[in-house]
Amino acid sequence: MRPLIVVGNWKMNGSLTTNQAWLSTVVTGLQKGMPAGRRFAVCVPFPYLSQCMNALSASPLLLGAQDVSAHVSGAYTGEVSANMLRDLGASYVIVGHSERRMHHFETNDAVALKAACALDEGIIPIICVGETADERNSGRAVDVVRGQVNAIVGQLQDRLVDSLIAYEPVWAIGTGKVASAPIAQEMHRAIRLQLAEFDEEVASHVGILYGGSIKPENATELFAMPDIDGGLVGGASLDAKEFLEICRA
Ligand code: PEP
Repeated sequence: MRPLIVVGNWKMNGSLTTNQAWLSTVVTGLQKGMPAGRRFAVCVPFPYLSQCMNALSASPLLLGAQDVSAHVSGAYTGEVSANMLRDLGASYVIVGHSERRMHHFETNDAVALKAACALDEGIIPIICVGETADERNSGRAVDVVRGQVNAIVGQLQDRLVDSLIAYEPVWAIGTGKVASAPIAQEMHRAIRLQLAEFDEEVASHVGILYGGSIKPENATELFAMPDIDGGLVGGASLDAKEFLEICRA
């Protein structure tokens, strides 16, 4: 049985003051009780990892980062290694978010290398895949996502079993246009079948999260789908109360 996992992605938002209020509301809310068998995490900007590590040390909310270097150490100015993330208490790291693929030209190969670096340090990579609106409108959604998944499987092989995949249709991110539960389920099923062609055991164990305009109003229906194992929540995770409602969904 795969656990349901809800992960917040603050993106490039926050400040020491607003984070403190968010952390105390969410930690208190989670301590009041959540349905059993769930996991929760929040992926924050690098400068706030230390603040969050201290605030979350005795809480059920795990910590994550939003990117990691594809290199282990050395002359890579501005990069942050998986080892550094582990030092700062990160259990998860998002890799290959569409905003990084788009604005920082990350390729499938780079994404797979980043995921491998995270796994080497015992950090769970949340590997994002998803099609653009044009790709969906031209009937290529499944093929595009299969290509992204194949590139990752090719590099990670059975290490994929320790990773999470996030299906995040680019047209749904930050747009308010959530994928309907049947469309999301169809894509998650396609991803799982693609993984099963490689290894059925891996396919049945890997958690596949949905991301793209999740809100408290649509989370319950999405999370009820058999191949949706939780959510990666961007905009709605900035509001502590909305994030808690999604955790409860
Ligand atoms: C995201 O950035 O991963 C995301 C899913 O964003 P949003 O929930 O705002 O669509």
